[in-house]
Amino acid sequence: MSTLFIADLHLSTERPEIIALFLRFLEQEATQAEALYILGDLFEAWLGDDAVQPELQEVLTGLKKLTESGVPVFVMVGNRDFLLGETFEKMTGCTLLDDPSVVDLYGTPTLLMHGDTLCTDDVDYQAFRQQVRTPQWRKAVLAKSIAERLQMAREARAQSQAHTREKSAEIMDVNAQAVEDAFRQHGVRRLIHGHTHRPAVHELSVDGKNTTRIVLGDWYQQTSVLKVTADDFSLTPAGQ
Ligand code: MN
Repeated sequence: MSTLFIADLHLSTERPEIIALFLRFLEQEATQAEALYILGDLFEAWLGDDAVQPELQEVLTGLKKLTESGVPVFVMVGNRDFLLGETFEKMTGCTLLDDPSVVDLYGTPTLLMHGDTLCTDDVDYQAFRQQVRTPQWRKAVLAKSIAERLQMAREARAQSQAHTREKSAEIMDVNAQAVEDAFRQHGVRRLIHGHTHRPAVHELSVDGKNTTRIVLGDWYQQTSVLKVTADDFSLTPAGQ
């Protein structure tokens, strides 16, 4: 048996081919799994559970079919789709997962994160994150009309693109100290996250203990799936 992890699909109506790949993944590979974890940014944008674009409805239906077939699906929100909520859970049968969460994977406690909180060198982003993750901000935004939220999302996206262009690659990556702190704070030896779009397996010694940080890839040029079994793991394109 195996448990699957994916992140950063950034599903949007602009890339129907990735939606199609994901639907195929849900119908095939995922049905063989013990559980599926989606570690953030499943969607490129999420304006609220009451504002689902018709083209994304089939994604919700695909998730629902999978959970109904008996495969539990856990979804962590990312920096793009952090407005996912209880109605999404009801529509899909998925369970929203806190960031960070520690899960037991075949006897190995494993820390799961989206990964954005590890990018502490990006001070502007961390300030923005703090602002938009309060219950007050969430409530105020969800009270706006869908047209207003769409406009806000457009502005945020333009700002974020300008911001990304200005920043160096180092600032956009995880901070080494933040990674060590995460291992220490949660007392784990394995961490799985996405967000940086730099798929890799990093071995690191923290306080003399060997740790493994697995970074999931995005779904732009290819699919990226981490498969964890009782004794091993592999990070590959889907279907391989
Ligand atoms: Mn992200």
